[in-house]
Amino acid sequence: MQGNQHTYRKIVNELQAANAQLVAVSKLKSVNNILDLYHLGQKDFGENYVQELVEKQASLPADIRWHFIGHLQSNKVKYLAPFVHLIHSVDSLKLLKEINKQGEKANRVIQVLLQVHIARETTKFGWDESTLKDLISEDFEEFTQLKNVSVKGLMGMGSFSDDEQVVRSEFENLKNLYDVFKEKKAPNFHLEILSMGMSGDYQLALEYGSNMVRIGSLIFGNR
Ligand SMILES: *Cc1c(COP(=O)(O)O)cnc(C)c1O
Repeated sequence: MQGNQHTYRKIVNELQAANAQLVAVSKLKSVNNILDLYHLGQKDFGENYVQELVEKQASLPADIRWHFIGHLQSNKVKYLAPFVHLIHSVDSLKLLKEINKQGEKANRVIQVLLQVHIARETTKFGWDESTLKDLISEDFEEFTQLKNVSVKGLMGMGSFSDDEQVVRSEFENLKNLYDVFKEKKAPNFHLEILSMGMSGDYQLALEYGSNMVRIGSLIFGNR
């Protein structure tokens, strides 16, 4: 942690200047690694795997805000519903409805982001732009009935590309979409979070208005 402590502080300062929040991505990292960062003041941690997250949550301080950022299967939502702070990776209406149902059971309103597919790679999950536009326009009534979810923003992942122009245009695209959807408001739909940027591209993401970045390897070392 010695060397990484310096990197962590540098990133925190950079993000403060840009008014952006840090989610420290701790997947596959130990409870002790997380505690080291927690003692430096970090409270927001992101995880990709449900079982790993549930186990860590049970053994770490209760004031940690847990972000779920990986692909989420509907049948696993129930394990996260009692405590999760923000689910970044909602990529279907089916999943959103399940989160609503489990939120109701846990007597909570669960905060979520809609994950948008912005990268060229076909392997990344997320809504495509036109399906999302339909949801926000034609299906908005049905959508607003989901009282136990609160849509707080959008999430996207840029391509793993050396071509900076490609990533720039993807981030720009997501920012434009965010600006359009921000105009739309309902009690359970109020966009204020744009989650984009990881270790390799967060500075670029900040240029395009990201206000929440998800950084793992740069802080914790390679997985
Ligand atoms: C793993 C992961 C990150 C962090 O990636 P790094 O390159 O280690 O910073 C961010 N977002 C998502 C969705 C991830 O799965």
